[in-house]
Amino acid sequence: LVSRKWRVRPTVLDLGDGVRIGEGSLTLAAGPCSIESEKQMELIMQHLVDNDVRIMRGGVFKPRSSPYAFRGLGMEGLKDFHRMARERGIKIVTEVMQVSQVEEMHDYVDVFQVGARNTQNFNLLDALGGVDKPVMIKRGISGTIEELLSSAEYVFSGGNEKLILCERGIRTFETASRNTLDLNAVPILKEKTHLPVIVDPSHGIGIREYVPTMALAGVMAGADGIIYEAHEKPEEAASDGAQTLNFAESERLIRNLRKVYALR
Ligand code: PEP
Ligand code: MN
Repeated sequence: LVSRKWRVRPTVLDLGDGVRIGEGSLTLAAGPCSIESEKQMELIMQHLVDNDVRIMRGGVFKPRSSPYAFRGLGMEGLKDFHRMARERGIKIVTEVMQVSQVEEMHDYVDVFQVGARNTQNFNLLDALGGVDKPVMIKRGISGTIEELLSSAEYVFSGGNEKLILCERGIRTFETASRNTLDLNAVPILKEKTHLPVIVDPSHGIGIREYVPTMALAGVMAGADGIIYEAHEKPEEAASDGAQTLNFAESERLIRNLRKVYALR
């Protein structure tokens, strides 16, 4: 069902208020790895509004490799995130980690994010097949393109056609970068499926200085959008600070992304 053989016309998702994801527009989503405080959200939302970025990312349930790391503000944080975003006309994308969260999060998200550690959590995919909100599925840490498509097929066949695919880097033998951003996946996915394809250069390379370059490369490769981490003080971020842009870097990237998209 996610194949171009089954549906030729590209899927375009309408999040309301003029926010669309898919062919015909460049989708930009930025924000912190983790939602940390109301003050932080206020600063980041202002940064997004100033740059006409309509979607904010930010986790409230964080999949951390260490159980001692900051694991997110949970539902209370999500409710604040949602309220503040509504007040500013911003849409939110945030990670859902387990089936039981789908229902409680539902009314407070615009896009459910399935993280790389949950790409093959088939029960979660089944549950998301039953909701009427868009779902962005990230490629698994060691997942093939075919496996990503198969995960999308779970949600689609469950009845939810509002899907976005996200290339966020895969684990390879290379250790110079956090992950290996597989930009090969972009043209391949665009050819194989009718779904929008978004690139996450932050997790893809994991090094702040190189994030803008890989973001621009992602757009040139044909991505429908970029999702990246931005924070008012990356050095103090509760998670993923080393791959997070500050506002000056983010602003410059947004300008360049729009220029590059216009050249396509
Ligand atoms: C994130 O978006 O902060 C995240 C945890 O991403 P991933 O699932 O790709 O590691
Ligand atoms: Mn992160």
